[in-house]
Amino acid sequence: MVSADDVQRVFLQAVLSRGVLSENLAKILWARSVEVVKAADKDVNVQHTGSDASWDDFVAKVNKALDALDLGFRLVQDELTGKKMYVLANLKDDEVAQLATDYTAGEIAFFKAVVEQIMLAPREAYSVSSLAALREVSQVKPSMSKSQAEDVLASLVANGWLLKSRRGRYSLSVRTQLELQPYLKHTYPDDILECTICQEMVTKGIACHTPNCKVRVHTCCFTQTRKHRSSCPACSVDWPRNAGKPLLPVGEDAARDGDDQRRRVRHATAQSDDSDEDEDMDASQEQSQPKRSQRTRKRKDVRVEVDQDEGLKDEGDDDDDGDDSPKKNQLSRRGSKK
Ligand SMILES: [Zn+2]
Ligand SMILES: [Zn+2]
Repeated sequence: MVSADDVQRVFLQAVLSRGVLSENLAKILWARSVEVVKAADKDVNVQHTGSDASWDDFVAKVNKALDALDLGFRLVQDELTGKKMYVLANLKDDEVAQLATDYTAGEIAFFKAVVEQIMLAPREAYSVSSLAALREVSQVKPSMSKSQAEDVLASLVANGWLLKSRRGRYSLSVRTQLELQPYLKHTYPDDILECTICQEMVTKGIACHTPNCKVRVHTCCFTQTRKHRSSCPACSVDWPRNAGKPLLPVGEDAARDGDDQRRRVRHATAQSDDSDEDEDMDASQEQSQPKRSQRTRKRKDVRVEVDQDEGLKDEGDDDDDGDDSPKKNQLSRRGSKK
């Protein structure tokens, strides 16, 4: 017998075959799922008003159905353009088991080593050069040749786990930020920056230029906020009209020559800024990177409420398949908060 719950089932079947989809397409699939169920039984009681509230309701039901499987249907946002997308993500493991079906243990260890170099990049650059990424192969057992490592990196990019920029620097993709969120939070609790506006992880965006100001925001979040606010929400310094100087970059624009010459090493016990180990690690770099101490601070105390939907209503579409720009998948997470 057909019931209203079948809409969720039909919808999820459509989503499963796609993995990542724009908000617009997700809403179209919802409407079609309702049609399919109504066609099967015209007496079934399903509503489709198309309102934002009913969509939120529907997404909540979908997530409830996915809960038992530790999957989530989550709203994410392109870190640069602000385009909204939905991702069906595995939310269970705080390890990187999601890669286990496609990669060997050695390849996963290599991936984790590269992620470490990205997470610990100085100056909040959240990226690593190709050379430095390949260098990580020497840390991995069982050993792997350099050309094998190159293949693994190419595959990780092709499968959406890593992004490679035009400059040849690797950074975290939306998939990694979303699916490996528990692992990243658990492993790098002091190295994750949170957007002051949307509270999601920032690896590409801007930092307030006031020394010691904690505000970090996605470029798209800045652009939206700047429309109705001309100063930093924390330190009140005037912000420029556009997301450029004197604001400081977060992401690969922050990287400087020489940053990747030394491996970054995580210290499991280093919870505070003044740990001896941190100083030992790279005394010379400390002097040239005043921002390093900023990134290790907790930032959860700075929050701003904004209308997150403002100005974004018409941005989702699926007609950009020809766009191979490395920005395409740079999404940030905007999980549906319960
Ligand atoms: Zn944001
Ligand atoms: Zn500020």
